[in-house]
Amino acid sequence: VFDYQDRMTRLRDRMASEGVEVALFSIGPDLPYLAGYEASPSERLTVLVVPSRSEPVLLVPRLEAPRVTQDLFETRAWEELEDPVAIAVSLVSSPSKVAVGDQMWAAFLTRFLRHWPDAKLVPASSLTSQMRVLKEPAEIELLRRAAQGVDRVMRRVSDELRFAGRTEVEVARDLAEMTVVEGHDEAAFTIVASGPNGASPHHHPSKRLIEPGDVVVCDFGGRLGGYFSDSTRTFVVGEATAHQAEVHAAVLEANRAGRKAVASGVACQEVDRASRTVIVEAGFGDCFVHRTGHGIGLEVHEEPYMVEGNETRLSPGMAFSVEPGVYLPDRFGVRIEDIVVCTEDGVMSLNEADRALVEVG
Ligand code: ZN
Ligand code: ZN
Ligand code: ZN
Repeated sequence: VFDYQDRMTRLRDRMASEGVEVALFSIGPDLPYLAGYEASPSERLTVLVVPSRSEPVLLVPRLEAPRVTQDLFETRAWEELEDPVAIAVSLVSSPSKVAVGDQMWAAFLTRFLRHWPDAKLVPASSLTSQMRVLKEPAEIELLRRAAQGVDRVMRRVSDELRFAGRTEVEVARDLAEMTVVEGHDEAAFTIVASGPNGASPHHHPSKRLIEPGDVVVCDFGGRLGGYFSDSTRTFVVGEATAHQAEVHAAVLEANRAGRKAVASGVACQEVDRASRTVIVEAGFGDCFVHRTGHGIGLEVHEEPYMVEGNETRLSPGMAFSVEPGVYLPDRFGVRIEDIVVCTEDGVMSLNEADRALVEVG
């Protein structure tokens, strides 16, 4: 479905205009973006070498070679006793400027630098993120299918899932399983943060027993065709107190304001300001401790970031989260997160599951 040839052409154009003589892509999202192949994180190096003046070569360890199906460019399997760095280096004559995949292990980079001590390094994201930030229709379709999968899980949470008397770990296991059942290839992360644990935005599910009266933040996502989902809803076990409902209402209004601010040409920081203003005015400004959103695609967190100081203008095709939250230390937290896409005429929310403070059992 993807035009990898076109992506490679655009990458080469960028390399030419930046004076990059070779780009190296190992683990991380750029290799699947350019070649439809994802490297395994391993002490055995996989690297796509893209020299500015010759054809790209994908170097893979012999035992990983059977997984490679791409035929866009040469795949060369290196044997167990060969040195893949030396092979890669032999494909280019001492480059003065090298782009390195952001996630390539330092263990490999330091070996490359022994061969190229004078090379100037730039992160490969300086070439690729401007490409990846504008999603193609087929990418948006995968993000939509992934988002609809987590929406179905969210609806099942209120109908079927039991919270009271169970641990966060048990609930998280159910959510992860439902994420796969509802169409994802795999569950990627699962936050279940009950009661006081909700005040920690990236809480790891614990053995804490969930009790009646707890507010529970559920933030999870999976991967579908390489693309991520990421959505948050906040539930309450039993009946909400007036205070819990008040905090939730402020976050819901902030989520709405953030989504409403999205339009082509608007600076990313304006989306953050729209959400943050609501929370500040509700009196919880000090308790909204993170940016309003992050881009999403082949990574859960990528450009563009909805954060104060980011003057990047939104363009049609940009996909990102709007996820304001309020975190009250020792008490509870609330977050409501949707993935949205900037369109020609405004914004489209990929997540549409009920955003209300739903009471669960
Ligand atoms: Zn997060
Ligand atoms: Zn999330
Ligand atoms: Zn998120």
